Amino acid sequence: MAVSLILETTAYTLDQLLAVPEAQIALAGRSNVGKSSLINALAGRKKLAKVSATPGKTRSVNFYKVEPQNFYLVDLPGYGYARASHEERRKWAKLLEHYLTDCKTLKTLALLLDCRLPPQKIDLELASFARTCRLPLLPVLTKADKCSQRERSSRQKEWQDLLAVKPVLTSSSSRLGMEELWRALIAAADI
Ligand code: GDP
Repeated sequence: MAVSLILETTAYTLDQLLAVPEAQIALAGRSNVGKSSLINALAGRKKLAKVSATPGKTRSVNFYKVEPQNFYLVDLPGYGYARASHEERRKWAKLLEHYLTDCKTLKTLALLLDCRLPPQKIDLELASFARTCRLPLLPVLTKADKCSQRERSSRQKEWQDLLAVKPVLTSSSSRLGMEELWRALIAAADI
């Protein structure tokens, strides 16, 4: 698929986030879920998004322009990092809450979920918050290369039962699911 991904801008405040007129799809997930690796795999580049050696470090919000479709993938800071301070968590929750509630051009929340882990409370809370904002969810299972075929299918089914949407199964290492994910993102941006 001939799609390009370009890091266009970095936002630090809510006003900057809300000021974008083009369609947006937010990418969210627990710290270390593999979000930066997934962005790089989607882009077909090694170092577009910084893969973290120390989790919980990125606090800005990066906007990646998708061309030629002309929408943004919005890389939200990872959540659930055990060593984040109370203040940091509070700030993150506030930013996310306002963004999901108030951003008129936000089309979908792509929720990244580690294929190896059973559904976690923090992810379910975010999913249910998105539901209350009437924001469509696109669940994405990451690191599928680390799971057996059997684990992949049962995890997919488990999330499908919880969210009523079948997650896209991906691996940034093997590039499994990249085409399917691009198609789902492009379709979601066009709604
Ligand atoms: P982020 O904190 O969500 O941005 O996560 P990163 O992309 O920085 O990845 C966290 C760790 O998981 C890194 O050590 C990555 O190399 C590893 N990782 C990410 N995606 C995959 C994947 O698809 N397969 C495997 N095996 N490892 C991955």
